[in-house]
Amino acid sequence: MLTLPGAIKSQSQQETNQMPSYTDFYRRSIDERDSFWAEQAALIEWQRPFDQVCDATDPRFPKWFAGGLTNLCHNAVDRHLRERADQAALIFVSSETGVEKTWSFRELHAEVQRFAAILKAQGVGCGDRVLIYMPMIAEAAFAMLACVRIGAIHSVVFGGFASHALSSRIDDAQPVLVVSADAGMRGGKVVAYKPLLDEAIELASHKPAKVLMVDRGLVDFAPVPGRDLDFAAERAARMDAVVPCEWVDSAHPSYILYTSGTTGRPKGVQRDTGGYAVALAASMRHIYMAQPGETFFSTSDIGWVVGHSYIVYGPLLNGTATVMYEGLPTRPDAAVWWRIVEQYKVNVMFSAPTAARVLKKQDPACLTRHDLSSLKALFLAGEPLDEPTATWMSEAIGKPVIDNYWQTETGWPILAICNGVEPAPTRYGSPGMAVYGFDVRLIDETSGEEITEPNHKGVIAVQGPLPPGCLQTVWGDDERYVKTYWSSVPGRALYSSFDWGVRDADGYYFILGRTDDVINVAGHRLGTREIEESISSHAAVAEVAVLGVADALKGQVAMAFVVLKDAALAAEPADALKLEGAIMKQVDEQLGAVARPARVRFVSLLPKTRSGKLLRRAMQAVCEGRDPGDLTTMDDPGALQQIKDLLGGPDARPA
Ligand code: ATP
Ligand code: MG
Repeated sequence: MLTLPGAIKSQSQQETNQMPSYTDFYRRSIDERDSFWAEQAALIEWQRPFDQVCDATDPRFPKWFAGGLTNLCHNAVDRHLRERADQAALIFVSSETGVEKTWSFRELHAEVQRFAAILKAQGVGCGDRVLIYMPMIAEAAFAMLACVRIGAIHSVVFGGFASHALSSRIDDAQPVLVVSADAGMRGGKVVAYKPLLDEAIELASHKPAKVLMVDRGLVDFAPVPGRDLDFAAERAARMDAVVPCEWVDSAHPSYILYTSGTTGRPKGVQRDTGGYAVALAASMRHIYMAQPGETFFSTSDIGWVVGHSYIVYGPLLNGTATVMYEGLPTRPDAAVWWRIVEQYKVNVMFSAPTAARVLKKQDPACLTRHDLSSLKALFLAGEPLDEPTATWMSEAIGKPVIDNYWQTETGWPILAICNGVEPAPTRYGSPGMAVYGFDVRLIDETSGEEITEPNHKGVIAVQGPLPPGCLQTVWGDDERYVKTYWSSVPGRALYSSFDWGVRDADGYYFILGRTDDVINVAGHRLGTREIEESISSHAAVAEVAVLGVADALKGQVAMAFVVLKDAALAAEPADALKLEGAIMKQVDEQLGAVARPARVRFVSLLPKTRSGKLLRRAMQAVCEGRDPGDLTTMDDPGALQQIKDLLGGPDARPA
C-alpha cells in the first residue's frame, strides 16, 4: 500500500508545535492548490497513486486525484486493522429499543464483508445503485460500507420519508436492490417501513429486482415471494465471507444523496470516491479536532449529509470511533445524549441548532447530570445558529459550541473555524471563516460584481473548482447541475450557494438566510434571518420563523410565527397581544420599524423538514392562500395546520 510523504511532514509539523497560521494554511490551499491537496491526500491510502492532483480543465467538473485508485471502505475499515483492530469502531445506542452494542474495527470488517457477499450474490456490481431505506441501526452503516466496498453506489433515503418521496428517489436513482427493515421507532412508537416501501415500489416506474429486509422483530410483515430476501438468513450463510475491496477510480461515484428539499425538488448530489475520502479525513483533524482512537458522536441521521460525512465516513476514515444513535434527544429525558457522552467518553459531538432549541425547552439540570469531561466541543450545523441559543447551549454544558456552515452539495464545511490548524475564537452568529480549499467570494446579486469591502451583503459563492469532496454533478443531469449552481454570473465559473452573507474585516462570515428568503417591504430588502435573530433574543421566545407574505400595498410584509418557551405566556388573547407588541417593539429598536413584522402569531411548533429545517416555502404558500406543494419532506403536518387555522380566524391576514 502506498502512502505519500506529504502528510507525514504535516503531522510531524504539528507534533513539533510548528503549526502554520491559518491564514498561511488557507492561502496555500488556494495559491498552491495542488501541492496542498497532495499533502492532504496522504491521509488516506491509495492502491495506485494519482497522476494529477486536480484536473480542472472545466472548473465546474474537476477530477480530483485523477488516475488514482482507492476504496472508501478500505480506508474506513480495512486499513485500521493493522493498528486498531480491537478498538471500538461503531457504537450503537438506541433509546427506543434499549439496545446498545459496540463493534470493533475487526468485527465491523467481518460484518461489512458478510453484507458485501450478500450484495454480490444478488448480482450487485460496480456502478450499480443500491437504495438504503433504513432506520438508525448498525445494519444501515454495514450496508453503506458494503456498497462502497464493491463499488456499488448507495443512495440512502431518510427513513422518515413516506412512499411518495421514496418512489421519486427510486425512479431517479434506479436501484437494482433496496435494503430496508421492518420498522423504525420514534418516541416509543413503531413506524412500519415495509408498507411504505411496498407502496413506493408500486408507485415507481422503476422496479428494483430485490429487497433485502432486516427484521428487527418490531412489526410483522409479508415478504414478496421472489423479491424479498431475509437479511438474517443470508448473513448466517456467509459468516466467513471474504470480499476484497474493489479498487475504483478516484472519480468513481460513491453515492447519491438527495438534498433536503427545503427550496424545491430535491437534487441528487453525486459524490466521488477519492476526493471525498481526502476531504473528510482532513476535516476530522483540521476542523473537528478528532484524533484516531477518540470517539465522535453525531446526532444526525444517516439519511442526511451529516450522517454520511460525520456518522459513517469521516470518523471511520480517521480511525475514530463513531456513535450511532436511534432516538430523540429528550427520551427518556433530556439527559440521554449526555449520558452517552459520559458512558462512551465522547470527545467531539456534532448536532444541529434545532436540537439545541429543543433542549432549551427542557430542564437545564438534565444537561449537567453527567460527567462531560471527555468532551472537547459541540459542533452545530444545518441551520442558522442564533446567538441566544449558542450562548445558552454553551453555558448549559460548559463547553465551546462551534457553528459551521455547509450544504449537502459540498459534503463538508465551507465556513468554519479550523481549530485543528490554528485555534481561533468563535464569534457568535458567525460560522467562521472560509475553509481551506474553498475560494469563497461574496457577489452582489444585481450587478454580479464581487464585494470586497467588509460588512456588505452578498451571495456566498465559491470560485471553481470546488475543493475535493464536493458534488460532481446532479445525478444523471449535468445540465441541471450547471444551470442550478454555475450560472449566476455569466462567463464565470462561480458556484452559487444561494445563501446571503456578509464578511467582517477579519474574514468572519455571517449567514443572512437563503436568497429566496429575502423579502421586499416597501422597497427595502430585508433578510428574514435578521428579523428572526432580533425576535429570538426576546427572553420569552424559544423559536421563530419569519417570512415574507405578499401585500398589495407594500409588496411584501413580514409575518412572524413564534414558539414560546412557556406557551402559557400567550394563552389569553390579551397576553398574546401584549407579547406581540413587546416583540414588535424589540424589532423596532434593534432593526428599525421597517423590519417590524406585520403580525406575530404564537404556535406550539413550526413546520420543518425531517432534518429540522424550517419549511418557509410551505408556510409562505399557506399565508398567501396558495397550495403548499410537495410536503413529503415535512415532519409534522400539524404544524402547518396550526398556521392554516390561525389564518382562518379574524384579523389573521397580514395588515
Ligand atoms: P434544498 O437545497 O433541497 O432546498 P437544503 O438547502 O435545506 O435543501 P441542505 O443541503 O441540507 O439542504 O442544507 C444546506 C443549507 O442549510 C445551506 O445552504 C444553508 O441555507 C443552511 N445552513 C447550513 N448550515 C448553516 C449554518 N451553520 N448557518 C446558517 N445556515 C446554514
Ligand atoms: Mg440547498
